[in-house]
Amino acid sequence: MTLEDGLRSLAIEEGCIRAGIARRETFSEAPPSADMRYLEPWANAVVSFAVTTGTDWIADYLGKVTRMVMRDNMHHINHEAYRIANVIANRLKEAGFKAHAIIPNGLYRPDHTFGKEIPDHDVKPPLSLRYMAVGAGVGTFGWSGNVMVPGYWSNVMLGGVLTDAMLEPDSPMEEAVCDKCLICAQVCPVEFVNKDRKEEVKVTIGGREYSYNKKHADLRCVIGCGGYTGISKNGKWSSWSTGRIILSDEDEKLPEILVQLRNDPANVATNRNLAFGKRGVLDRPRENVKVTCNNCMTVCSGPLEVRKKWMNLLFDSGVVELSSDGREVVTRLDENGKEAVIRAAQIQ
Ligand code: SF4
Ligand code: SF4
Repeated sequence: MTLEDGLRSLAIEEGCIRAGIARRETFSEAPPSADMRYLEPWANAVVSFAVTTGTDWIADYLGKVTRMVMRDNMHHINHEAYRIANVIANRLKEAGFKAHAIIPNGLYRPDHTFGKEIPDHDVKPPLSLRYMAVGAGVGTFGWSGNVMVPGYWSNVMLGGVLTDAMLEPDSPMEEAVCDKCLICAQVCPVEFVNKDRKEEVKVTIGGREYSYNKKHADLRCVIGCGGYTGISKNGKWSSWSTGRIILSDEDEKLPEILVQLRNDPANVATNRNLAFGKRGVLDRPRENVKVTCNNCMTVCSGPLEVRKKWMNLLFDSGVVELSSDGREVVTRLDENGKEAVIRAAQIQ
């Protein structure tokens, strides 16, 4: 068995749904965050892989029964991706090569970070696992910009390992997985994902051109998925965030809005999604994982009828609010436009 076959098999044995290899040259025409030498000057190749958390928790999450299913999933899957990356890295080291297990999330380039006093409205990771996965044939882009894997849609998390080994690369995937239903854009409470099919960006990886939505400023998702707001523009549905700011359409205003939100004492206590350690998400205790959205990935977890079902569940499951005694409750407007509490959300 070749080293490459052994690495792919090892990833599958460890629980990945798909794995592949890309060489540094694959990304020569790709955006800067596909430059693997930013992370390791000796990097020649990446072993990329995808894992999934399954779908049995989605009804409870989008139906606003409990957000804890997402918290537990996210915490588990990030640690699992890093565990698998280390297993693969050890195999490479045993074979005499350098290897770096990539931290799956929560680290950003210092020149593009919200760690600044006034953050940039775009943030970039040291190395984009999305680009690595597409270059290695693990998946392909959906309209959302998320990576889609055949049979799993966008319901995947990515991991990877850099190495100095000149590994034989896999080919990028030929097939399209996304059918451009745009449900990912409809379920984004902060309108980060573009709803206009004509508004797209193009990225070249491995000599192949890919396109996906021209996203609005990254801070939109940082504010939304970070838990600072989650109310839809029509006010009828929300993510799990209890924040109620409807963001300005102007991306330029977002950095200052984030600063205000971050300094708001109510948010300091309740929103901790942006608190990362030196090892990114890996240093965040499970109780501090407060993912409130992830809707774009969560709904895109099956064929069109499944995506529609999840979207409708989200739209019909009401709005999460903080009650006067500080509990998360789910409310819905009645026929007279008055808010009625449906139930207390399960948060333990
Ligand atoms: S929700 Fe629809 S448009 Fe969005 S990525 Fe999935 S399949 Fe593509
Ligand atoms: S995670 Fe939520 S806020 Fe971020 S892009 Fe997806 S749907 Fe929008």
